[in-house]
Parts: sequence; C-alpha cells; structure tokens
Amino acid sequence: MPSTDSMLDPRPHLLSLLPDELEVRLREHMVSRDQPGYRVGQVKDWIYTHLATSFHEMTNLPVAEREALDQAFRIGQPQVHTVSISTDGTAKHLWKMADGELIESVLIPAGDRLTLCLSSQAGCAMGCTFCATGWGGFGRQLTVDEIVTQYRSSARWLAENGREPITNVVFMGMGEPLANRKAVHPALTILNQGFGLGARRITVSTVGVIPGIRELAVRPEQFGLALSLHSPVEGLRAELIPLEKRYPLPELLAALREFRDAGGRRITFEYTMIRGVNDAPELAPLLAEQARELGAFVNLIPFNPIPDQDWLPSRPDRIEHFRRTLDEAGVSTAVREPRGRDIDAACGQLRANALVQIEGGRPRARARSLAVSGSASRSAPSAPPG
Ligand code: SF4
Repeated sequence: MPSTDSMLDPRPHLLSLLPDELEVRLREHMVSRDQPGYRVGQVKDWIYTHLATSFHEMTNLPVAEREALDQAFRIGQPQVHTVSISTDGTAKHLWKMADGELIESVLIPAGDRLTLCLSSQAGCAMGCTFCATGWGGFGRQLTVDEIVTQYRSSARWLAENGREPITNVVFMGMGEPLANRKAVHPALTILNQGFGLGARRITVSTVGVIPGIRELAVRPEQFGLALSLHSPVEGLRAELIPLEKRYPLPELLAALREFRDAGGRRITFEYTMIRGVNDAPELAPLLAEQARELGAFVNLIPFNPIPDQDWLPSRPDRIEHFRRTLDEAGVSTAVREPRGRDIDAACGQLRANALVQIEGGRPRARARSLAVSGSASRSAPSAPPG
C-alpha cells in the first residue's frame, strides 16, 4: 500500500523517478514553461549532486521557476523523529513518514568506509525469531522515494555535520527488500545511475526470497547479495526464519548458484551467532562447505541482545572455532562486532522502542508466541567485505 503522502498529494516525487524518466519529465515541464533546455541539467544537479530537499534551494533558477517546479513535483523528505549517535560513531536515524510510520536507517563508519544501512519496509512480515523488526510487526511497503530519501537525507546529514560521505549502501535495515521488489529495483537504479554509487558498493540482503534472487541475478549491474543464513541446516533455520519452510535451503543454495553464475557477483553469508542455538561446533564445517562452494564471504555476527528477551551472543571461543573452521576451508570470514549498542542500533530496535512508547508496549501485529523472540541479527548491520 502506498503511503498516505503519495495518496493525498498527486505531485510525483522526483526521487521516485528513474533518472531517464526524471529527465523526460523535467524536459516536458521546462518546454511547457518555455524555459531553456539547460534548466533540466540544473535541476538534476541540485537533486543528485547538491542533495536538495526543496526547490527553494535551487538558487540558480528564477524564483518563478522554483515555484512552478514546486507546483508540479515533490522533492521533500520524511521528518526526523530521532537521531542517535553512538560512542563508536554509528549514527541511527528514525524517520517519521507522512502517515506516521516509523522507519530506521543507520550510518556505520568502519575504517575508510561509511556504510548506510537502509530500510525497505516499515516493519516486516517475515517474523524471524531473532529480530526486533519482526517483533514490531508489518506496517507497509515503502515507496521508491521513501527508500531513496533515506540515502539523500543521510548523505546530507553527513555533509552538514562535517563527516565523510557514504561509500557503501546495504539494504539491511527494516524489512525484507526482496518482498518489496516493486520499489527496491527502481531505488537500486536511482542510487546507482542517479547518485552515482557503484553497483558493487550496493548490497541487497535477504532471508531467502528465491524469486527476488533470480530477478536480481538477471539485472546487468553487479549489485551484491547478502543472505541471512544463520544456520546451515534446514530444521534449525526454519526455527529462526519461517520463510525457510517456503524456500528450503537446497533450493535457496541453487538460486544462489544462479546468482553467482550470472557473473562477478558477490555473495555474503550473514551468520548471527546465538549461544546454544546455532553455534554447535558440528555446524561450522557445514557452513564452511556451503560458503566455499559458492565462494561466499561469511560475516560472523555475535548476537546483539535487546531488552525483554533471553538469548545471548555466542562465547568468544565458539566464535573463534567457527572463524578458524571457515578459514581452514579457505572461506573469507570476518567477525563483525555489533555496532552502536549504546543507541539501540539493532535493526528494528529503535522503532520497536518507539512503538512501545506510542502503543503502550503492545507489539502491533505479531503476537510474541514463539518460544524465544526478540532481537536482531542483521540488526547489527555490518559493512560488507571489501
Ligand atoms: S531479519 Fe529481516 S526478514 Fe527477518 S523479520 Fe527481521 S527484517 Fe524481517
């Protein structure tokens, strides 16, 4: 369902248009206004280079043209609900959409990288047992401009605060991006062709939506793919990720082979390590075999606990056992420390807390009926490997 913003306001949002469409629409507009062709380039420059959030900023256009643009199009952004900055430099934005939905994006500095973790849905319907977003329930799909404005507004916030620019984008925030392909595909194109972010610097993370993986594989750009694996065996994985029952691991791994064979694509496995749940030593060689066969990079992520649940991160010796087993199998691996713990940077956590405040502590859509539920895994969004 589209946001009420787009339902109530008939003006197209310029960040919902593919760069080619934007060019055509602006050209038609300028012709109708009897304006020279170079105005199109000026507006595009304001949008993609200067990150303008209002037409009034476009000071090299006559005032009458700025007003005419404002009557024909939208370019605005969601309200900032909260900005939280961690002692480790991680910055988390909670955005309030026009209809009141709350979504999150996180900026994660790591070495010479600055990764933006974007949301693709308000909430999530997938119900993964370890995830705060799943706990908060599903709100709605995000529109193209609601995804892209997270990038633009975050980039602008960084510039205004004298910080380094975004180098990488991961669709690893709230929601399952491949369950919102109608918006995510155009958003990928706009980030890549409009804002000039290289395809190999953009990663889409999924819990295993096979049709979406196949669609991504046939795109010509080399976007990366991260699979939230969390278990190399079907039964345990199904307990953690209900979608496993619909798209079982053997079929999923076959789809990943297709993705890899489409050429030069990078696959990452995300493996959240939860003490006593998915860190048994005998799982490590199975994980290593699956990763080795696909040439996948593995991120081992100690579980990031949140209040009101009782899972814990794996002990360091168990994490080291997994790391060593993967390393000995020739699999590139990194142990990713959860970032921004002091600001609830786990995916869905800030929103879940806000919902608790707004809704008096009642999860909106999903009863907490599972034996153990609550925290996040990709929730501690880590920059993908370089
Ligand atoms: S891990 Fe991802 S797919 Fe699963 S509930 Fe959380 S946001 Fe949704």
